[in-house]
Amino acid sequence: MDISFIINELAEDRENYFNAIAPPIMQTSNFAFNKVDEMRSAFADEYSTFIYSRGRNPTLHILQKKLAALDAAEDCLVFNSGAAAIFASVLANVKSGDHIVSVNKPYGWAQHMFDKILPRFGITTTYIDGRSIENFERAILPHTKLIYLESPNSWDFALQDLAAVAELAKAEGIITICDNSYCTALYQQPVVLGIDLSLQSATKYIGGHSDVVAGVLSGSAEMIHRIFSSEYLNIGSGIQPFNAWLLLRGLRTLPMRLERISRSTITVIDYLKQQPLVEEVIFPFDPEFPQHELAKEQMRGACGLVTFVMRADTAEQIEAFCEKLKHILIAISWGGHESLIVPRCASMHREQFDASNKEHRMLRLYVGLEEPEYIIQDLDQAFRADSNQ
Ligand SMILES: *Cc1c(COP(=O)(O)O)cnc(C)c1O
Repeated sequence: MDISFIINELAEDRENYFNAIAPPIMQTSNFAFNKVDEMRSAFADEYSTFIYSRGRNPTLHILQKKLAALDAAEDCLVFNSGAAAIFASVLANVKSGDHIVSVNKPYGWAQHMFDKILPRFGITTTYIDGRSIENFERAILPHTKLIYLESPNSWDFALQDLAAVAELAKAEGIITICDNSYCTALYQQPVVLGIDLSLQSATKYIGGHSDVVAGVLSGSAEMIHRIFSSEYLNIGSGIQPFNAWLLLRGLRTLPMRLERISRSTITVIDYLKQQPLVEEVIFPFDPEFPQHELAKEQMRGACGLVTFVMRADTAEQIEAFCEKLKHILIAISWGGHESLIVPRCASMHREQFDASNKEHRMLRLYVGLEEPEYIIQDLDQAFRADSNQ
């Protein structure tokens, strides 16, 4: 399906709302029936119609159709956060006694679920370096039910060969889930590569304006229907109509925002690479990236997240650099209009900082929609201030 068609037309039913160009925000909790028998058949399958907005809602319906089409998946669910999409997708596919294989250092709240919540129900997780398929083969046990992937990882951008993992998992009857937040469906389609469920934090690029928290989960119609009728309705963290509308609005400009950000990121990387205080730049589409070939093969783009390793002896030096930035904000998340930076040392005590550990000197930069020169000038004045100390 054409991306322009999906974004501008698919599932929009304008005659039903006064030919308004922008779809209405159906801010209602419930829907009425004319006949009790209609209500009865609605109860039999809540996914077949509109009953109550914890389940389905017309504004959300338009969004679901578009997001599933962008993922080239049969269907999708939209949650009130990416974390809820992770929780529901995992919970729907494991039971007591099962085993999960996850890539190392998945998104923090996925890891929290694997380490803190699931063990209470006898579900164990083995973490592996997902860069080699042999590690998956070795980690699979007779009771492995789920393989959890995140490609690229949102810090070091480690990739998994999604088609190869999907093939292995299918042969073993194991469900695969991939966190696709880094790329979005525009730059990578895990479902097309054979992954069962693809999820993303829509808070990032889809929302695109740092004003909504949301998550998407895409997969087969059968799987999505099953999750809707159970975990989705039970957890009750489906997206609210106004937030669904904000995501629809974000979608209109998604391709051009990603294009602009991708271009600016290359310009910023060129600058970072010749900056003496930068030891290394990590970016999946950089020819020096160890998995560059795989990145080019399974991803169409790499967008605006880039990690660099700063030459520094102390955490204070890195902190001073961040605090000297005038426009780039010190904040988590990404995908909005504004450039952001997160130093790795913010997630540890200063005493734990070890300059000989490259990871401790990592900073993750998100390149936003500003002019690339504006971002570079900001970085440059902060680096200069640091070298003048
Ligand atoms: C932000 C993020 C999430 C969680 O999404 P929320 O919308 O914040 O709940 C999941 N995975 C990755 C890689 C993320 O960056």
